[in-house]
Amino acid sequence: MTRLTLPATPRPFSLLIDGKLIPVSEREPIVRENPAHCKPVSLYPRATVADAHAAIDAARRAADSRVWRDMSGAERARLLLRVARLIDENRVELREIESLEVGKPISLVDREINGTIAHWEYAATLARHAYGDTYDSLGDNNMAFVFREPIGVVSLITPWNYPFLILSQKLPFVLAVGGCAVVKPSELSSGTALRLGELLLEAGLPAGVVNILAGSGAELGDVMSRSPKVDMVSFTGSTTIGRIIGRVAGETLKKVSLELGGKAAHIVCADADLQLAAEKVALGATRNAGQACVGGHRLVVHESIADNFVEAVQKEISKLVVGDPLDPATTMGPVVSKVQFDRVNGYIAAGEDAGCEKWALQDRGAGALPGYFVQPTIFTGVQPSMVIAQEEIFGPVLSVMRFKTFDDALAIANSTPYGLSAGLWTRDLDTAFAFGRQLKAGTVEVNTFLAGAPELPLSGLGDSGVGHERGRFAIEEFTELRTIQLQLNQPRR
Ligand code: NAD
Repeated sequence: MTRLTLPATPRPFSLLIDGKLIPVSEREPIVRENPAHCKPVSLYPRATVADAHAAIDAARRAADSRVWRDMSGAERARLLLRVARLIDENRVELREIESLEVGKPISLVDREINGTIAHWEYAATLARHAYGDTYDSLGDNNMAFVFREPIGVVSLITPWNYPFLILSQKLPFVLAVGGCAVVKPSELSSGTALRLGELLLEAGLPAGVVNILAGSGAELGDVMSRSPKVDMVSFTGSTTIGRIIGRVAGETLKKVSLELGGKAAHIVCADADLQLAAEKVALGATRNAGQACVGGHRLVVHESIADNFVEAVQKEISKLVVGDPLDPATTMGPVVSKVQFDRVNGYIAAGEDAGCEKWALQDRGAGALPGYFVQPTIFTGVQPSMVIAQEEIFGPVLSVMRFKTFDDALAIANSTPYGLSAGLWTRDLDTAFAFGRQLKAGTVEVNTFLAGAPELPLSGLGDSGVGHERGRFAIEEFTELRTIQLQLNQPRR
């Protein structure tokens, strides 16, 4: 892979409303800068509140006309597969957009594009598999059919950290079951979503079925959560904003699915494959500069191996090349923005103030760039009640705690308000299942980490959210039940 260059002029994008593209020349531009070089790379048209209403109206008309819902599952599946193919054909451009806007190392983005394509392909299989129930045991020739109808118009509001992948954990599933959508990506990384709008048109999606906006959450996201013409909000982002959306959407009693923050723990037992565990713990804490909701930012390690294991994690982290995301040799880039930079450094200061011992990777030149680089940092001597062990930092910071017994480890791992995911490292199956069933986490990965798959549900417990996405469970999430009960005459004998 060759070195990526910054675009001479920022790449312009268009909104998609009712099948029409609205170029940036027709709206006030939002300028997105690359977080390593602090140079403009993208221009998004700032959608107005009137645009948000127009997008919702278009989706409502498309849903009510049943233009998409009444197509056969096979036809919808073909279109989803066409989109998957178009993403593949445009992968070079899409990975550049993602790298330039989020600051991800260019050599690591292809994997995400593959994951994105896999979600569109998997959702296509569900389009042909949406079925209901039949009850013929109600007695006296009385029977019932339970149908699954698309829920209608779904607002999809997404964060900046994995913009294309997270949108693709939602949108193809809404489309698979015949639903319509209004999409609003984060104002920090809207490029891939807006480019997807063009690909949807190219694939032949009927007008209004998907509408894509760019702009502020407080303005557009609020309209998308509040409008009585919207039937459901599917949100991924922070717990703070999730609570706001839940309250606003509750006023019109719409369904809400919230995928929120996390503070995943790795439990490392003494019998584990410690080399593999060290590699994955290092990866979990630093992947995407630590900005992954499922990244493991707490290490709960058995006291008998703790010192050696932390050293092994440091050794793995020391292999990282932190620097310019445009350089294919780089394996960790900057955090996404000045706000995020200040936030992560605030937590690092809190760890120091609390008296924890700090280890950090030496800066090998990233600091020469003007952007928002944070060196991977490990704190030892952390108590479970400390701020750095409780709150989501969303940066490359790992807090290490030790345990003696199974109950200690469980109590530490379950001590935050979050419940998104956890990693468990042991060779003992009984231990694996005992932890696996009792850890407060929607997903527990044993002897692997960040493995996910479109077939598997993603769900958060506690402050990590409500509802689930991905997997066949998405059919339930984006549909509602309609029952037809029927009385047949008694057969003439
Ligand atoms: P955020 O909550 O600040 O923003 C997410 C989206 O909500 C953005 O599109 C934003 O514009 C919009 N928004 C902001 N205010 C709004 C409002 N009042 N009404 C409606 N929409 C509004 O989150 P972020 O900083 O973009 O992303 C980081 C957070 O996302 C972290 O907490 C992370 O854990 C979480 N996350 C969770 C998952 C998961 O699957 N559980 C995945 C990725 C990220």
